[in-house]
Amino acid sequence: MLRGFESLSLRKKVYMDRIFLQSRLELVNQSFFSLPELPEIKWSRGRIKKRYRKITFGCYDIKKNEIRIHPLFKTAAFPGFVLDFVIFHELLHYVDRDILKKNRSFFSSSRKRVHNKNFKLREDEFPKANEAKILLKRFLNEHI
Ligand SMILES: [Zn+2]
Repeated sequence: MLRGFESLSLRKKVYMDRIFLQSRLELVNQSFFSLPELPEIKWSRGRIKKRYRKITFGCYDIKKNEIRIHPLFKTAAFPGFVLDFVIFHELLHYVDRDILKKNRSFFSSSRKRVHNKNFKLREDEFPKANEAKILLKRFLNEHI
């Protein structure tokens, strides 16, 4: 019996988590993009590549047309704008998806080409972009 209740609340929690991401995505879109259509958004499996001292905070999967966000944002004490910045960054990739497609076929997912000067200029249009980057970098330094 108790188990039933537990799984119910867990299901509810997963649902709430997803609604939360969805609402952040819509807010970032309203504030900066006004795109008529948006990709899906969900939590990633949350792997941490300690060996490379790297965490993928967010990614845009062009094949599935979905943004995935690292679940550390559920628990880490980041100010809200840091998650919004990560979503903003991935939405820029979504906007550039035609370029991503080209890159994939010709330059096998070259990070440098994707995060070029133009991309970085647009990224900096996010208020507190620098602050967000600093906080993310600090998190990496402290945790892996
Ligand atoms: Zn990126």
